Amino acid sequence: MRIAETVTFGGSGLDRAAHLRGDAQAVEGMLRDPATRVLPVWRGKPLFAGDPRGAGWLSVGDPVLGSADEAPVFLGLDEGVPRFAVDISGWQPEEVPDTVGAFFDPSEQRHPLLPPDHAFGELRANMTRLSPRAAELVATAKAVLGWHETHGFCARCGARSRMIEAGWQRHCPDCGARHFPRTDPVVIMLILSGNDVLMGRSPGWPEGMYSLLAGFVEPGETVEAAVRREVREETGVEVGHVGYLASQPWPFPASLMLGCRGEASSRTIRVDPVELEDARWVSREEMLEIVAGRSDAMKPARQGAIARFLIEAWLADRLE
Ligand SMILES: [Zn+2]
Repeated sequence: MRIAETVTFGGSGLDRAAHLRGDAQAVEGMLRDPATRVLPVWRGKPLFAGDPRGAGWLSVGDPVLGSADEAPVFLGLDEGVPRFAVDISGWQPEEVPDTVGAFFDPSEQRHPLLPPDHAFGELRANMTRLSPRAAELVATAKAVLGWHETHGFCARCGARSRMIEAGWQRHCPDCGARHFPRTDPVVIMLILSGNDVLMGRSPGWPEGMYSLLAGFVEPGETVEAAVRREVREETGVEVGHVGYLASQPWPFPASLMLGCRGEASSRTIRVDPVELEDARWVSREEMLEIVAGRSDAMKPARQGAIARFLIEAWLADRLE
């Protein structure tokens, strides 16, 4: 797909400068460089700043970064400027609403040491406002820091592990195991039958919300097999040819969405009630109304999500 990398969180060509990760002297030098910029992340919420809103980059010596638990993660060189991210979840705002950590968290937190246009916010709510470069940096920061937060102990022996390689590995001092940040592949598929696309909704989704079917790839399975299995399990529809379209890093918490198209070889839908509440075929004409927000029956998939991107590309005949 020629426009594949224009999806939100699509590749911006960031120089990740992986050769510097193991070079302690180089990393220390960058962390003393006044040009270096650091993105703080608080409980999974990156710092945003300004109007129009961008990522909230701070200087290395900013006192806000003092509440970091672990060393900063080196994200790469952005036009020569070293970029890092650091987890400051140890900071205690005066008030922490119940929504923090929930699936939908509209709250924002302002740090008393930062200007009023700086706030920690949900990435989903801000992702479409970021430049492609900022989106790649923020998604990388959120995914890697989220991994460190939940992988503080060695998966082999249970001892506390420590961050090495500027945040791109954890090392266990007891058994010597090295652990790498994980990325979980998820297939998400535009299943087509003539003029129609297959849409489904999960139990508990907001009313009227439908999206493309999706599911985790299992160990030992190809992408194509995962597409066919998920569609069969969830809807009973059989899929023939499967092709790859585009991918999207999705750091909620650590997915890599693999966007595919599949040609349905059957049309009868039998919904698996555990996985789905409803599934239906939607024609191209109906989908144009849905995406334009003119449908009462269905709401369009979220702007910025690969489902929306693939649907719009299908409607515009831009899947090639
Ligand atoms: Zn160990």
